[in-house]
Parts: sequence; C-alpha cells; structure tokens
Amino acid sequence: MKIDYQNLRAIVFDADDTLWDCQSHFEAVEKHLYKLIAPYCDDPAHELFVTESANMADLGYGCKAFTISIIETALRVGGSHLSDVELAELLTHSKSLLHLPAMPLPGVEETLQRLQAYPYRLVVFTKGELQDQENKLHRSHLDKYFSHVEITSNKTEYEFQQLCQRLDIQPHQMLMVGNSLKSDIAPALNIGAWAIHIPFHVTWQLEHSEDIEHERLIKITQFKDILKHL
Ligand SMILES: [Mg+2]
Repeated sequence: MKIDYQNLRAIVFDADDTLWDCQSHFEAVEKHLYKLIAPYCDDPAHELFVTESANMADLGYGCKAFTISIIETALRVGGSHLSDVELAELLTHSKSLLHLPAMPLPGVEETLQRLQAYPYRLVVFTKGELQDQENKLHRSHLDKYFSHVEITSNKTEYEFQQLCQRLDIQPHQMLMVGNSLKSDIAPALNIGAWAIHIPFHVTWQLEHSEDIEHERLIKITQFKDILKHL
C-alpha cells in the first residue's frame, strides 16, 4: 500500500523502542527485582504490574516513575528480608536507565538522512519525562534530523489532535511511526492519520494491545522499509 504522500506534510516518530532500544534495559532491571522478591511472592511480575498501575496516575511514564515502582515493590514484597546492600544495588541499577546508550536501532539513522530529501517535516513525539527524553535524544545524535520535538505525559487521541494543531496540519496529512499499537498506532488512526507499525522484540506489559488491521495502517519489520511506502 502507498501512503497518500502528495498530501502528507509531517512524519511523526515515537522515540523509545522505535528510534533506539529502551525496553530491554528496563527488562534487565525488572529481572533484577524479580530475583530479589521471588522467594516472597508467587508472581513477581504481577507485583510490579500492580505497583506501576497504582502509580500511573500520579507518576506517569518514564525512568523516575519506574525506579520508584521498582523500589516500592521490593520494599512491599521483600520487606525486611532484603538487605540495605541489595536495595542499594537495585536502586543503582534502576537509576542507570537514565544513562542507557540510546544507540539508534538498525537503519534508523540512514533512513532519517534519506528522509531529509523529502518535503515532509520530521517530528519526534514521545511520552515520558522531559529531562530524560531530551537527554536520550541528545545522546542518540539524532536530534539534528528533526524540526520539531514534543515530549508529552500521554499519547491518546487528544494529544495527537493537539500535536496536529501545533504543527498546523490536518490529521490525514500526518504519518505516525511507532512500535506501540496502543499509544502510537491506535490513537493516530482514530483521529484520521496514517500509521506505520514497527514492532519491537519486547513490549512493556502496560503497552500490550490486540493486533490492529486498518486501511491507513502499514506494518513493516525494518525501519528502512518506511521509504518503500513513500
Ligand atoms: Mg515506543
């Protein structure tokens, strides 16, 4: 399928697990937690899920929220069984996510370079914490390819509509590219935009979603295949 590229004005990219690997670093910290609390509960992953879900409304997405939920789960489930040293190591491991490499995934940089020749605005639209997301974009050295960057607390239809307004475009003039069906693809399609889904090999439990079929959705497995549809 070809996108209606004559009307297209902006290509909007998710960042974490679309431009660079993020989730596998978070999963390493989760495994660290699970190992510590496994003797004291039946399902360590469920215990973390409960904490993260309860914290979502107050803390939102990102590394700091994750770190609080990790330590909170360790304290709630492991309690006095865990030593100061074990908790300190878990905290250090969690905070190391603030410095994860943000190395561009295969094909990302070459594709962004080639897209410079197209008449579309290239935009980053990511949820998470302002400082952390800005730092990752900077560390990735991809910031030079984008004319507009937005970091938002959530990505629902409302935020996508607001983004279109700020870019001064109609939804059908936007193409959203991302790894999450729930927060990149579904809301973009629902407001009338085009979408390209590139699944990442791991998905955070809170981002799991049913598969989607849609006339304005293209599914690819490699980032560089974006160019085949433009
Ligand atoms: Mg993502």
